[in-house]
Amino acid sequence: MATSMKGRQERLKKMLLEKNREFEAHLKQELGKRMKEGTTFFASTIRDEGDLGYFGFEQEISRRQMISCTEKLKRIAAALERLQDSTYGVCEECGGQIGEKRLLAMPFTAYCLECQQALEDEELSEKIRAWTEEGDQPREV
Ligand SMILES: [Zn+2]
Repeated sequence: MATSMKGRQERLKKMLLEKNREFEAHLKQELGKRMKEGTTFFASTIRDEGDLGYFGFEQEISRRQMISCTEKLKRIAAALERLQDSTYGVCEECGGQIGEKRLLAMPFTAYCLECQQALEDEELSEKIRAWTEEGDQPREV
């Protein structure tokens, strides 16, 4: 059991590092474009959307991509830290292991598939309750 856990951690780490490289390359590419256009700033200066507010409308897409890349890189760094604490890939709801396939597709998901679906169902029924006002009535347990 311990060995298979280790294998999983290794595979997840590899996946996260690959994604890290991917987003870093993408960010560099976008930054390279900016540099050519004579705008100088660095990834470390991108803190929020306000920092990039001086870009023109035509640069909006590229700007959004950079923000998104920066966000993803932060989340990957956080995920790698959690991986070290063995808390990455653990469902926040039930504490169970999130499937590797699911993590490959959604590296930042906090819930396993079952809990995600249960939460979505709950959210939906909450909304339905709110719409129908029946939620205000005390429920028999
Ligand atoms: Zn779960």
